[in-house]
Amino acid sequence: MLLVRDIRLPLSATKEDAVQQALRLAKIPVGAVGQAEIAKISVDARRKVPTLVYTVAIQLKERGAELAYAGSAPCVSLLQPKKLQLKNGDKKLNFRPVVVGLGPAGLFCGLLLAKQGFRPIILERGPDIQQRMEKIEQFRVGGAFDPQANIQFGEGGAGTFSDGKLTTRIGDALCGEVMRILLKHGAPEDIAWRQKPHIGTDKLQQVIVSIRKEIQHLGGEVKFSTQLTNLKIEQGKLKSVVTTEGEIPTELLVLAVGHSARDTFSMLKQAGLQMECKPFSVGFRAEHLQWEIEKSLYHEAAGHPALPRGEYQLSHHVGQRCVYTFCMCPGGQVVAASSEEGGVVTNGMSYHARDGKNANAAVVVSVDGRDFDQDPEKAIQFQRQLEQKAFAVAGKDYTAPAETMGSFLKGKGQLNIGKVEPTYFRGVCPTDLGSLLPTELANTLRSGLLAFERKLRGYTHPQAVLTGLETRTSSPVRIVRGEDFQSTAVQGLYPCGEGAGYAGGIVSAAVDGMRVAQAIIEQYQPSE
Ligand SMILES: Cc1cc2nc3c(=O)[nH]c(=O)nc-3n(C[C@H](O)[C@H](O)[C@H](O)COP(=O)(O)OP(=O)(O)OC[C@H]3O[C@@H](n4cnc5c(N)ncnc54)[C@H](O)[C@@H]3O)c2cc1C
Repeated sequence: MLLVRDIRLPLSATKEDAVQQALRLAKIPVGAVGQAEIAKISVDARRKVPTLVYTVAIQLKERGAELAYAGSAPCVSLLQPKKLQLKNGDKKLNFRPVVVGLGPAGLFCGLLLAKQGFRPIILERGPDIQQRMEKIEQFRVGGAFDPQANIQFGEGGAGTFSDGKLTTRIGDALCGEVMRILLKHGAPEDIAWRQKPHIGTDKLQQVIVSIRKEIQHLGGEVKFSTQLTNLKIEQGKLKSVVTTEGEIPTELLVLAVGHSARDTFSMLKQAGLQMECKPFSVGFRAEHLQWEIEKSLYHEAAGHPALPRGEYQLSHHVGQRCVYTFCMCPGGQVVAASSEEGGVVTNGMSYHARDGKNANAAVVVSVDGRDFDQDPEKAIQFQRQLEQKAFAVAGKDYTAPAETMGSFLKGKGQLNIGKVEPTYFRGVCPTDLGSLLPTELANTLRSGLLAFERKLRGYTHPQAVLTGLETRTSSPVRIVRGEDFQSTAVQGLYPCGEGAGYAGGIVSAAVDGMRVAQAIIEQYQPSE
């Protein structure tokens, strides 16, 4: 297949215009084309009038004829998609492998193992999607919080209620495989060509269930409401896992528990696993009117039907810290993302249509091991204390503390709601957000926001709303593993995904799940 990149066209251009331009640039006669389609569309909004930048994929009728055109212009190159090839190793297994956690990492690891005949047993502490959604809906309308069924825990993990943005910077060849699997299981077709692909919480839930059903169809077993509580290790080798539903003998355990499994981290530490501090960030969710963000990004072209919903990503360094925006959700809403009783945590999501009035994004400042004497337990305790402070100050009923931007910049603690209506579903309460954070971090966030105003006009509009606290940006710990993906302390144990510190986001967690599965497949044969 040939790729013709960097085809710049006005917003009024059609996809056919892009294909014709690609054929002209690559000097390919129309009659030679078997298939030509859009591989990517991005927006260049650096100038007053944005342009669309296309990449076109061309397959020729004659097999192998592409080689003659590769390099015919600097923007034309040959793409040879690599197929995932797996070969089982020859070590014998006595038992089925166990995967803990049914988030993206556990799901994709389980799928690959199941495809190779390993019939994995997958443990998930939360319920299946149906029950999980019911629990979350009850909580949304004022009901009790369930520590086992929430935005972090349950089928699909944090991925289920995530926004479903599929952007990643890891550049791993397995990213393509993740996309193919998502498409096969019902993800919207445009994820194949959008520069910033997005599934949306509503569609993602169906995709997750479809992948889980394929695992079960291939002989895998999924045990919901079953929590890993202990490990049995003999002479440095895993012998069995202890769960809330009994003990399961196994030589292989994939630990894909996500970044919120604090009780599991404590258990793993006691079991002798090596853990280290990993950088993460804290702050709050900022909400603006989506329309105003688009006016700042696209200027007079805002609202043009050829443009995607406007997204931004901003960052600013202050000494050793970085203030940045993260997980921006156009047309989305702010959600309650705690997994522990007595804590308030914010995050953001959007439906596929992204048609809400507000844009939200995390605005956070980095912290790392130096802030916690390189002690992972102190880092987790710091997160927990912030979440508990946010809970206490806002009335202990899962209302979230919030403040308007103008007030936060002056440290006044006021919530003067104007044109931006906060979307956090349990309601918000006026609070001096700066007083909930260490003063140095609050002031660093203020410096960052002022710098953002210089990059995206209107960012510090006094009526923008800040809701907090955002503490679960990524895992505060890394469970140390070696080149063979196994824990350096326990043979047969594979730390995996975001919680173990090897991923950040849906795609990278899924890729890490597949890498771990590959490492297992290449060493072992399935048990009889
Ligand atoms: C609201 C929200 C929006 C997000 N939006 C995006 C986005 O748009 N794009 C993006 O890339 N990322 C997004 N993320 C982040 C993304 O969801 C995570 O990076 C990803 O889910 C991590 O995958 P994982 O499999 O490593 O862990 P998780 O998804 O956290 O899954 C871990 C699973 O392990 C289970 N578990 C934990 N402990 C145990 C135990 N002891 N026994 C059994 N089971 C256990 C948990 O219940 C959970 O289901 C968002 C997250 C949230 C919360």
